[in-house]
Amino acid sequence: MKALRLTGWGRAPELVDVERPVPGPAEALVRVEAAGLCHSDIHVLDAEPGELPYRAPFTLGHEVAGRIVAVGAGFDGPAPGERVVVHGPWGCGSCGRCAAGQDNYCDRRGDLDRHGVGLGVDGGMAEYVLLPSARHLVPIGDLPADQAAPLSDAGLTSYHAVCGVRRALGDGTTALVIGVGGLGHLAVQILRAITPSRVLAVDIREEALALATRSGAHLSLPMVDGAAGKLRKETGGVGVDAVLDFAGTDATLAFATEVLRPGGELAVVGSGGGQLMVRKPGFLPPGFRLSLPFWGTRDELAEVVALARAGTLRVETEEFPLSAALDAIDRLRQGRIRGRGVLVPWRTDAPCPAEPSTAPATSKIG
Ligand code: NAD
Ligand code: ZN
Ligand code: ZN
Repeated sequence: MKALRLTGWGRAPELVDVERPVPGPAEALVRVEAAGLCHSDIHVLDAEPGELPYRAPFTLGHEVAGRIVAVGAGFDGPAPGERVVVHGPWGCGSCGRCAAGQDNYCDRRGDLDRHGVGLGVDGGMAEYVLLPSARHLVPIGDLPADQAAPLSDAGLTSYHAVCGVRRALGDGTTALVIGVGGLGHLAVQILRAITPSRVLAVDIREEALALATRSGAHLSLPMVDGAAGKLRKETGGVGVDAVLDFAGTDATLAFATEVLRPGGELAVVGSGGGQLMVRKPGFLPPGFRLSLPFWGTRDELAEVVALARAGTLRVETEEFPLSAALDAIDRLRQGRIRGRGVLVPWRTDAPCPAEPSTAPATSKIG
């Protein structure tokens, strides 16, 4: 089967042929219908050797949706034939956090050489992906795959971040989304769906501002000199109750604390490497709370899928065949993707290939 692999640090990923895996005990094989392309994939590709604990080679792709086509003995989950989305963060599987479906905050994270599907272990930018356990799967019914795959990170991470700042977002409040790309445009929709807040958005790209407006933002502003003053004015001068920063650069962190209301919430989601100097006394808003949310829990993914199936969330996607993955990655790097780029390994009009046997197997190849 075809798979997009990171073959070595500092090297462009390669589309190569690898053996199709066979599920062992408790495992499932999923025929991938869609795999989302996340800006974190760019961070992984750009990482210096030793910066991440992962061992190359591995197949990229941590936003995955598809159909179960084979399961191993003792697999305890959805039946072959069912369509699922993958809960991507995989922890040690046995600590208290993992047992509660909170693999994203695994107690043994520091000891792991992988952080989840496509992050140190073979992921979904391939024709098939092997899942080690039923606990990583959430059924999606007939939700289109291009919608379902991005929910597992762009949707889930945004939902988890919004839930984390929700105490600040009661009636009459204002929320600000910085960076309206794959994650940010879903954060705008989620804020509109589950809070009564007025939703503001800033970005450096015109097209992203239009996407923010389509996603339900009450006001979208370019990130230019004077934007902080304009935003403050929008809040009657008091400041924004919660900021979700999907860029996480020095500039956006400084901007976020400039517009934040005292006692407000700042969630830094973006991995832009920015730093925030904390000093008391100083100029930071008094009483503000900072969170560094990472991905989300399995239960939250089920909630996000339910929101999408109810029509409350709509991912804007641009589809690419798996063979065009390198082009899609370039476009993401250049800020030329609208919403979420999604890789589709199989042509939708192609006849279904002969599937591997769904009989329980006990061995695993590749
Ligand atoms: P994306 O490229 O789709 O979107 C990023 C958006 O931010 C773009 O619209 C871009 O124009 C905008 N932007 C960049 N710099 C900006 C600035 N200075 N001011 C305003 N807007 C700016 O990326 P994405 O896939 O949505 O990911 C966003 C970030 O979140 C990445 O850093 C990614 O690694 C990170 N991420 C974190 C988690 C987590 O669990 N914390 C999960 C997924 C992604
Ligand atoms: Zn991601
Ligand atoms: Zn754990």
